[in-house]
Amino acid sequence: MEKNNSNKTGDPTLFTRENKTAVQNLEVIEVLAGNNGKQKFLNLVEFKLSMKITVSAIKADIGGIGGHTRPSDRLVQTVKDFVIKNGKGILIDSYIGYTGDDIHIVMTHTLGTDNKEIHKLAWEAFTEGTKIAKEQGLYGAGQDLLKDSFSGNVKGMGPGVAEIEMEERPSEVFCVFAADKTEPGAYNFPFWRMFVDARSNTGLIINEELAEGVIFRIMDVMSGKIADLKLWNDKPELEAALMYPGRFVVHSVLTHQREQIVSCSTDRLHNIAGTYVGKDDPIAIVRTQKNFPATEEAGSAFNDPHIVAGNTRGSHHMPFMPVALNSAASLNYSIPIVSCLLFSMHNGKLTGPHDGFGTADWEYQRRLASERATVLRVQGFVHPATLVPDELEYNKGYEARMAKLNEKFK
Ligand code: 13P
Ligand code: MG
Ligand code: MG
Repeated sequence: MEKNNSNKTGDPTLFTRENKTAVQNLEVIEVLAGNNGKQKFLNLVEFKLSMKITVSAIKADIGGIGGHTRPSDRLVQTVKDFVIKNGKGILIDSYIGYTGDDIHIVMTHTLGTDNKEIHKLAWEAFTEGTKIAKEQGLYGAGQDLLKDSFSGNVKGMGPGVAEIEMEERPSEVFCVFAADKTEPGAYNFPFWRMFVDARSNTGLIINEELAEGVIFRIMDVMSGKIADLKLWNDKPELEAALMYPGRFVVHSVLTHQREQIVSCSTDRLHNIAGTYVGKDDPIAIVRTQKNFPATEEAGSAFNDPHIVAGNTRGSHHMPFMPVALNSAASLNYSIPIVSCLLFSMHNGKLTGPHDGFGTADWEYQRRLASERATVLRVQGFVHPATLVPDELEYNKGYEARMAKLNEKFK
């Protein structure tokens, strides 16, 4: 337990915001305090009322059936069972699912972000899952577990992490976007549509808070440095960063009053492993409704499948296809995919996920993405269908080809 708002006192649902009025009533306090001692009880009430909830979404690719497709049912079940068994006493709630060959663990708790116990739980669940992946001969077993032993935080060890610590709203709602076969910068354009583009989001005009302009925290994935860019003054600089998704990625988005709306994983695996081991397959949490984008404004930012880096061998450009929850990656050149998990949350208890891209209309977007993918695949290995040399995965092979080619230049 690292933060003083951690739930040291047991049941997190005992003193909720609903009780606030009641506990402010002295008479009730006198009665309830009978057994505890008044001061102790008041401390407890104060602690409970200031309790923040953290949502942690941690994902990893630990093996796929027949290639980079999807985890086996047994693998998913093993991760699930491990989290339920070992999360007792630290988690309020959890959900486990997958997008392509990446498994995500969504957890709620009161331990804050970057918490060692939470990260360790996810790391150990993925390690346990890897044992099954190896036993079943799944492809890429333990692919994203890039370090031998856990060192306190899964960031920089392979798994992707998105986390938000929040003062829970009475109707707390959020989406988790989970992607496969692409890189964190794939979310740059949808986040621009959500928070900068009134054509995509009317809320930027008619919601006072959003109209004030949000703060984008952008990470330079080469240096690890972060820049805060505040709309609307820093709009051109923000757009200059977002136009280069391989280098500058959205780390988080805050309201002008610094309340966190978005958290996005930013790890680039080849920066950790030093060579290509798979795509980063990012995960993001986006809080919606009230002073944040409407859930539909967040979801519809994915309705015009834009071209992202990734897919087969992580070395091509293809459109970003919205898919239903727990979809396998496609054999059609591993088109990049993203799923949308919608949750409601109360006192950290989750209801959902509802499948954000599961309704009938999204079939049209999938068709659009397939058509655009076909157009790009016609171009085969020639840019822009393939990535520029620096971004090309299996770079060593490319370097070997270039070395031989260069010998021939006289
Ligand atoms: P993943 O990053 O999803 O493992 O995909 C790797 C790949 O090279 C697919 O062809
Ligand atoms: Mg894989
Ligand atoms: Mg993957």
